[in-house]
Amino acid sequence: MYSEQLRKPQYAGSGMTSERTRRRLIDLIRSMGITDRAVLGVMQSLPRHIFVDEALASRAYENTALPIGQGQTISQPYTVGLMTQTLLNKPRSKVLEIGTGCGYQTAILAPLCDEVVSLERIVSLHRKARDLLYDLGVRNVKFRHGDGFAGMRDFAPYDGILAAAVSEDVPEELIDQLAEGGRVVMPVGKTDRQVLIVIDKTSTGLKQREIEAVRFVPRLAGLS
Ligand code: SAH
Repeated sequence: MYSEQLRKPQYAGSGMTSERTRRRLIDLIRSMGITDRAVLGVMQSLPRHIFVDEALASRAYENTALPIGQGQTISQPYTVGLMTQTLLNKPRSKVLEIGTGCGYQTAILAPLCDEVVSLERIVSLHRKARDLLYDLGVRNVKFRHGDGFAGMRDFAPYDGILAAAVSEDVPEELIDQLAEGGRVVMPVGKTDRQVLIVIDKTSTGLKQREIEAVRFVPRLAGLS
């Protein structure tokens, strides 16, 4: 959980970060179906405006994606809540996150798991998120620069895998790195037709289902 002290002092007390403004966003996503209390609790305690440019800070408590530079976006709060509660239907000790971006989703996952490995393809975003989460006191995340869709064998297997960029298929490599009992939550499809899917790896094979239509930025190619 993120305590008052962790919030950037220059934002303390300003209108856009008021308890009421943030509470309104939490109430909204709860009404949309985010009901997991642990997830809502972390989302309530973590300020979102510190993840975006100051010029956009006043919009940080709207339920919208916002630009974070390099053509990328911070995900919509509802979507972050949906993906997190879907992934954490049961405790997941070690989670792989694909697409660190600004680190907002990472910072939501970190207090809810033992360990997070977060991969980002764009080095400037990777560094910025790593430094911001360090400042927030987060110590259980390993940040790496590289192609997230190749996973990270060094720390596998994972109890959960969550991707924030859309891929046309589910890479075999990721399924290989998933522990038995593990779960993948990711968007699949083309840029304009995407669906959030859940894959459970059971002792008898893979079980896949669709959650709902979503909109994510496309997966970037690996490092050449
Ligand atoms: N959860 C992030 C979402 C950022 S958008 C946030 O809220 O900020 C998706 C991110 O996935 C972008 O930062 C993009 O650079 C990254 N990405 C795209 N393709 C990738 C790949 N192949 N490997 C790792 N990261 C990738």
